[in-house]
Amino acid sequence: MNTKRSEEMFDKACRLIPGGVNSPVRSFGNVGRKPIFIEKGIGSHIFDVDGNEYIDYISSWGPLILGHQNPLAKKALLEAMDKGFSFGLPTPVESEVAQLMLEAYPCMESVRMVNSGTEATMSALRVARGYTGRNKIIKFEGCYHGHNDALLVKSGSGALTFGMPTSPGIPKDITKNTLVCTYNDITSVKACVEANKGEVAAIILEPIAANMGLVLADKDFLCSLRKICDEEGIVLIFDEVISGFRIGFGGASSYYGVSCDMACFGKIIGGGLPVGAYGGKKEIMDCVTPSGNVYQAGTLSGNPLAMHVGLAQLTYLKQHPEVYVELEKKIKKLAQGFDAILRKYKVDAQVVQMGSLMTIFFTNQKIRNYQDVCTCDTEAFSKVFIKMLDKGIMMSPSQFEVLFLNTCHSDEDIEKTIQAFQESIQELYA
Ligand SMILES: *Cc1c(COP(=O)(O)O)cnc(C)c1O
Repeated sequence: MNTKRSEEMFDKACRLIPGGVNSPVRSFGNVGRKPIFIEKGIGSHIFDVDGNEYIDYISSWGPLILGHQNPLAKKALLEAMDKGFSFGLPTPVESEVAQLMLEAYPCMESVRMVNSGTEATMSALRVARGYTGRNKIIKFEGCYHGHNDALLVKSGSGALTFGMPTSPGIPKDITKNTLVCTYNDITSVKACVEANKGEVAAIILEPIAANMGLVLADKDFLCSLRKICDEEGIVLIFDEVISGFRIGFGGASSYYGVSCDMACFGKIIGGGLPVGAYGGKKEIMDCVTPSGNVYQAGTLSGNPLAMHVGLAQLTYLKQHPEVYVELEKKIKKLAQGFDAILRKYKVDAQVVQMGSLMTIFFTNQKIRNYQDVCTCDTEAFSKVFIKMLDKGIMMSPSQFEVLFLNTCHSDEDIEKTIQAFQESIQELYA
């Protein structure tokens, strides 16, 4: 595969942009290869600047659940553009998106738009602290909540992959209020809450962890968290930036039947434009300015272009619940295909899958938390990633990320992907 132009463009970008990329995972640094520069995407396929075509399992890291250039979203964007790009004054579409989101999350009564998932979790924490008058927060090892200071503590994919459990530039004074527990381990949470009685403002987690590879929460674990938060007056925050509107229209909250006090969103709700949101119970959200005095604002928040694209995508998902059934069917086919090949060649690896997400973990350890994920053979992952890339399959370039299916992936795409996986594993393991 010729990637000459991509390499030239990366060299140029490296002179101008730190590491040549605007978000670290794009650099392909974890798989020991220069990144591919993208020209365009249509449906489930992307095309690079050298003219190579790939079946895309990144889907912009989740937002594009309906594939690249979804016609409804594109029409909505073009129509919105005809009216202007941004006003800094309220527009009707903001309430329409809010209404759809509140319908999907009955535990939420009010929602505020922001511009990224990072902003959503940062703001949710501030509001939870303002509401409870407490400072400490609990997060889980391996969960990622964006790059804001208080949460960049042992925090999932970026940190795992780059070996930075905490980043330089974050004062200890800030992270001293961040307590870290073990995912799926309620004992660790009970002990932590007990040791910090009356001081914990919020427990934040990905109710389906998708930033250390795909790690599913036990329902019991989530139910017990709900109970502890009720007993101790702690705000339970679900970070549904990935799982929201992906694991069904009601996200992980509805899938598990566990309600949260606040939830954070991003990715799918913007359909590929920069959006985030956080919401929760009225009593809590009433603390946010201007109803309350916890300050939070944004020049481009609720941007009409992003809102119209988000509205088009969310409306479609609401009207077509069968989408989720079809996505799950397809990912099961992919997972079963991969699994059979891994067993045929006796590879120490397993496939974890849910909804339209999946990860191939190169370990036999049962995957329940970050420690389990750390037993993975990342070099084996990289070799398989590169083989697949050379066969026109764009997987997520890290062991600690997930593959995202979108509705445009055809049966033919899935079959081609399984075929490429068969050849890759055969070349490496036979
Ligand atoms: C992507 C992600 C974020 C951060 O969102 P950005 O838009 O990248 O800031 C936060 N939480 C989770 C669970 C995510 O997957």
